[in-house]
Amino acid sequence: MGFASALVLFAHPDDAEYMCGGTVAEWARNGTEVHYVIVTDGSAGSNEPGRTRDEISGIRKPEQEEAARVLGVRTVTFLDFPDGMLEVNLETRKAVTREVRRLRPEVIVAPDPSRLWFGRRYINHADHRAAGELALCAVMPDAPSRPQFPELLEGGFEPYEVPNLWLSTEEPDTYVDITKTIDLKIEALTKHRSQGVEDDLQWVRDRAKELGEKGGMEYAEGFLAFSLKGEEEEKEG
Ligand SMILES: [Zn+2]
Repeated sequence: MGFASALVLFAHPDDAEYMCGGTVAEWARNGTEVHYVIVTDGSAGSNEPGRTRDEISGIRKPEQEEAARVLGVRTVTFLDFPDGMLEVNLETRKAVTREVRRLRPEVIVAPDPSRLWFGRRYINHADHRAAGELALCAVMPDAPSRPQFPELLEGGFEPYEVPNLWLSTEEPDTYVDITKTIDLKIEALTKHRSQGVEDDLQWVRDRAKELGEKGGMEYAEGFLAFSLKGEEEEKEG
């Protein structure tokens, strides 16, 4: 492992901490430059009557920045598409591609876009699926293809081939030992004070333990890991 840089792409404030907070902290401690890109503005994260989207977003963004600081994340960028309405279209694809070409990460970490639900307890948020799909679009074809979004070239965002893609999923093939950073993951989650995360903390710990058992560690996070720049023959097209 030992990536020089990582882009963690996700839909909402707090997604990254749930998905891969332990991994982010572990990597950051080992010298990986970790950058967050949050596709939405987090403005639908409250059902309190009378709360405006602007107010909610204004509360959640600093919470996300605090959580990122706990984990050692270098930069946090919000693309500010409206929370709850995320679509995979040319506008969102271009915005994500711009970030990928700007940051040129050795690995992108993102949600698995194929997850419609998790077990029998959780229907996956449509924004999470869209964020995952946006990551895939950036990896292929948007970030590496020069003819895609020529206006990005004018801004100096040259094509970039992403070497690794790690998707956070239910059935991982790759485990990261987060035994040393599970407490940081929990601490980072508690920074999302507006989201009532306290009720989830035991579940988060149990889940990390469960994954740890599968990976032969005490606590773990799991991913589907794609290595996209193999030694194999040149790809066509
Ligand atoms: Zn979310």
